[in-house]
Amino acid sequence: MVKKDTLERWNAEKSAELYNIRNWSAGYFDVSREGHVVITPSLDNKKVRVSIPRVIKGLRERGLDMPVLLRVENILDSQISHLHEAFRAAMERLSYRNVFRGVFPIKVNQQEQVIEEITRHGGRHHHGLEAGSKAELIAALGMLRDPEACLVCNGYKDEEFIDLGLHARKMGFNIFFVLEMPSELELILERSRALGVEPMLGARMKLAAKAGGHWTDSGGDRSIFGLDTAQLVQVVDRLRSEGMLHCLRLLHYHLGSQIPNIRDIRAAVIEASRVYSGLVDEGAAMGYLDLGGGLAVDYDGSHTNFINSRNYTLDEYCADVVEAVMQTLDEKGVEHPVIITESGRALVAYYSVLLFNILDSARFEAQPLPKALPEGTPTLIENLYDAAKSMSVRNVQESLNDAVYYRDEIRGLFRHGHVSLRQRALAETIFWHMVNRAAVLLKQFKQMPPELDDLDEAISDIYYANMSVFQSVPDSWAIGHVFPIMPVHRLEEMPTRRAILADITCDCDGKIDRFIDPHGVAKALPVHELKDSEEYYLGVFLVGAYQETLGDLHNLLGDTNVVSIRVHEDGAFDFVREAEGDTVADVLSYVEFNPKRLLTRFRETAERGVREGRITARERREIMCAFEDGLRGYTYYER
Ligand SMILES: *Cc1c(COP(=O)(O)O)cnc(C)c1O
Repeated sequence: MVKKDTLERWNAEKSAELYNIRNWSAGYFDVSREGHVVITPSLDNKKVRVSIPRVIKGLRERGLDMPVLLRVENILDSQISHLHEAFRAAMERLSYRNVFRGVFPIKVNQQEQVIEEITRHGGRHHHGLEAGSKAELIAALGMLRDPEACLVCNGYKDEEFIDLGLHARKMGFNIFFVLEMPSELELILERSRALGVEPMLGARMKLAAKAGGHWTDSGGDRSIFGLDTAQLVQVVDRLRSEGMLHCLRLLHYHLGSQIPNIRDIRAAVIEASRVYSGLVDEGAAMGYLDLGGGLAVDYDGSHTNFINSRNYTLDEYCADVVEAVMQTLDEKGVEHPVIITESGRALVAYYSVLLFNILDSARFEAQPLPKALPEGTPTLIENLYDAAKSMSVRNVQESLNDAVYYRDEIRGLFRHGHVSLRQRALAETIFWHMVNRAAVLLKQFKQMPPELDDLDEAISDIYYANMSVFQSVPDSWAIGHVFPIMPVHRLEEMPTRRAILADITCDCDGKIDRFIDPHGVAKALPVHELKDSEEYYLGVFLVGAYQETLGDLHNLLGDTNVVSIRVHEDGAFDFVREAEGDTVADVLSYVEFNPKRLLTRFRETAERGVREGRITARERREIMCAFEDGLRGYTYYER
């Protein structure tokens, strides 16, 4: 256990290091001296800071329950500006002879307020949108105002999609149709003739280069989208035969999301620039090179090419991209194109934090070894007991192997009726005592032997979190993606427990048991002891990209409350938007229940109860009130 003097020496600064916050927060979050996580949305003025516990207090005063998805509008603005600044600086330094244009892929976060903020604040940088479906195109056309911003249409396009896009072109939108498949071209040509509007065409290429990471199936020869070089040449020939080669304006590729290694990014840019140069050679008008997404977020703050990280900064990314395009094109004397990127993740990840409270905990509590064993204890349990007594730093591993062996044998005897329930309980107590002692002894080693890697998890507490992993952090469940998670207050106190998080779906997959760690992935999270008198709040950070609409209604836990704040120069903040989460009636109607009908039926059941004398009429009224309150209530745990 922790000695008292270490406890006293703990401070907020140590918590900042423990949770590695300064390495993953990209400057947007920090720990204050009084032990709060603070939001620092202005990258140039660190004095502007908002304490998250203060935001939570404001939410509670307004009657909003946890969990809450908190969005910070300034962070989104800041990221947009940061991206444009970084490209502008790299282009200026390298004397690039054209400009950068960003487009935001709507699928990364489709919420109206995100798109609105991107088109509003992004307007000053001519930030555009990328649409991958009809619905996204319609959203983009309704939101984009800036005639200089690009609107890139990827994805499958039917006649309705194409007609709408052609009309938009006529209205002056800078809209590109990107060919994902050769067959799309004929329909576009036909509709273009019918409406008398020339499209701006792009082609999505299949890269031979492939990158490492979770989401990188989009690259490589076998990627499902895009044209190979033979198909690109066919498109060129077809357009030439129609006298429309001047309509081919853009080359696009998408290597995949979250590319951790800068070398993969550079290899792709070089390959694409060569293809671009080839298309110019063929006589296509071109002018735009669209490098897709892939700019990664350093979720664990390790600055490595591990899947949850990236081994480059934004400035390095921009410099590498610009330099690779220039070098490849300058060799052939090809004019520099407008460089487009479709960064989604890097733009929006930082802007949302999921806040939740802990409802309860199951502590891992190792029992002391009994002084002696009762008469008649089976030999195997005696052996286990002896192994426990002789355990020391020198034989941890061996002792643990013995412990597991004896425990399994004893369980076998129990199954056959040779060991009593009480004897088995004794054996399990000794076993867990040994596991706990091993963990204490191993703290003296720098690194845990890999075979004992699971030890940490075995002796962690379980903290029950008021949220649904499936709804709010689906990538954590679906692909084991690791997000930074930490308490948002009490950081001036030393966290003395280690826990995994279980959500309230009561599904065995509804848990978080992998946490960021500078050396890989940690199996438990340092947390504080719960107090009876006070809520304990944690945050899952960097959840602004992809998490919100992939989430599902597992166990009918619905959308959380969502609140946006805007922080002012003096550190004051406003709640600018509030969206109440789903009610129970909402989620039931999503799965086609009719809440009114449920109410009617339940009333009939209650009435029968009155008739049969099980409840009184007055009780019926109370029960019906509770039922109706339930329908109107939040789907999460309310205090
Ligand atoms: C998903 C996607 C993106 C976004 O990628 P990020 O890695 O989030 O920046 C960009 N372009 C296309 C075509 C996509 O499918």
